[in-house]
Amino acid sequence: MKAVTWHGKRDVRVEEVPDPELKEPDDAIIRVTSSGICGSDLHLYEVLGPFLSAGDILGHEPMGIVEETGPEVTHVKPGDRVVIPFNISCGRCHMCGMRLYAQCETTQVREEGMGAALFGYTKLYGQVPGGQAEYLRVPQAHFGPIKVPEGPPDERFVYLSDVLPTAWQAVEWADVPDGGTVAVLGLGPIGQMASRIARHRGHRVIAIDFVPERLEMARRHGVEVIDADDADDVPDAVRQITGGRGTDSVIEAVGMEAHGSPGAKFAQTLAGLLPGGSAAPLMARVGVDRLAALTAAIEIVRRGGTISVIGVYGGMTDPLPMMRMFDKGIGLRMGQAHVKRWIGDLLPLVSGDSDPLGVMDLATHRWPLDKAPLAYEIFQKKQDGAIKVLLQPAA
Ligand code: NAD
Ligand code: ZN
Ligand code: ZN
Repeated sequence: MKAVTWHGKRDVRVEEVPDPELKEPDDAIIRVTSSGICGSDLHLYEVLGPFLSAGDILGHEPMGIVEETGPEVTHVKPGDRVVIPFNISCGRCHMCGMRLYAQCETTQVREEGMGAALFGYTKLYGQVPGGQAEYLRVPQAHFGPIKVPEGPPDERFVYLSDVLPTAWQAVEWADVPDGGTVAVLGLGPIGQMASRIARHRGHRVIAIDFVPERLEMARRHGVEVIDADDADDVPDAVRQITGGRGTDSVIEAVGMEAHGSPGAKFAQTLAGLLPGGSAAPLMARVGVDRLAALTAAIEIVRRGGTISVIGVYGGMTDPLPMMRMFDKGIGLRMGQAHVKRWIGDLLPLVSGDSDPLGVMDLATHRWPLDKAPLAYEIFQKKQDGAIKVLLQPAA
């Protein structure tokens, strides 16, 4: 089959690789029809090279048709249309019992000291081949796959694998009071959807980015926007339109390569410290200031408010203004999305006729798998109006 494989910094290719096969009784094989490229893939593309091996198959946002199932998979069968959550969880361990699926104890990557295994996300997260491919082996398929109805286009459902549950959790963790105000930093796919979900739940949303098409898309969905390139001081610009106090909550949807931070320096530091053994201690040793968005969030949030960090960070963060955070009494929540936990809230919103979250207005590119190298490039450089790119193997 064809698959998108990693070969080095900013070097992804489409290659012929062996078809996946059932290995465990609770595996399934999916024929992929759509697969997103995510901001999290950009960390692999640019920064996290030391944790990848040439030939690793990328992608963690797939949907498709079940081809084959092992004997222990009973809730889906060949022919079913399914979306695959990006984290792999068993549904029956202690953590899954608490609906903390991103911390599943059955799939957690103990040797790296990490949480639940993820598709297409390096040896840190279990070295599971990803879903930017024609076919995908799905472990723990007795639990993971989300069955979706036939008929509507893939774009109705594909974001259930990551973008929508991640954005939903970002809003939940932000703890916005009824009728309150939330600032969203970063208007990539995650920030777009977090903004729309917050609007849907009746909050005032002020979002910040500097990419014109992304600001414009947010504006279309009832979001007030601040162009970070126009504002001398973003926190001050937010305070000016919130009675001087800042917002009740802030969602940080940017992550570690924030504009204004020396992300390139981080990449060099990591590359210079190539790990011999386990990668996790290495990650913990690397300390570089790349906190532009998080620092802004700490200044934007009102006293006693909450920051929900959904952007991905790696390594040590240095320095965090702890006195400022303590004195302001800021609440801070973060982490990987517990995908399955939010599907009951989200499936009805994407299944009806009305499309209240506007999921049909997010993808800017629907490209065949062969165009993956260019797709990664335009998504990273924010060229050609790219906001969300879907790879469609059969296209
Ligand atoms: P993206 O890269 O398209 O979006 C990031 C946006 O932030 C871009 O639009 C960029 O212009 C903007 N930005 C950069 N620096 C900024 C700054 N200083 N201030 C304001 N905006 C700034 O990616 P995405 O797909 O939307 O993902 C966003 C983040 O969420 C990534 O870090 C990704 O890894 C993370 N993520 C986390 C989870 C999770 O489970 N926690 C799941 C999916 C994605
Ligand atoms: Zn993703
Ligand atoms: Zn589990």
